[in-house]
Amino acid sequence: MTLPTKPLAIYVDVDDTICKTNGMDYPNSVPMMQNIQRVNELYDAGHHIVYWTARGQKSGIDWTELTAQQLKTWGARYHELKLTKPPYDVFIDDKVINSRDWEQGRWLEVWEDKWK
Ligand SMILES: [Mg+2]
Repeated sequence: MTLPTKPLAIYVDVDDTICKTNGMDYPNSVPMMQNIQRVNELYDAGHHIVYWTARGQKSGIDWTELTAQQLKTWGARYHELKLTKPPYDVFIDDKVINSRDWEQGRWLEVWEDKWK
């Protein structure tokens, strides 16, 4: 099973999706290199990658520079970085893919019908 060849706009969370972060201790986030590589593969396949994080949405602290530097250091390839994600506890959405399913490669099956 493969992704469609048409470019998809793919929004990817940062904390606990491509790096391990303890609470809001963003400066000490540890990259999850396998997941970053998975996103890089989507980038290389021509999809539009947006890293979308809620960093600073509650505190008002601007974490843009730190986050951009981390993505650069970690070798994350992307088109846009947006720190505009609203803080939430549960996200109910028909297009969401759980990061654990994504890590285990199960998401393509779930999405097969949507891409037909
Ligand atoms: Mg997260």
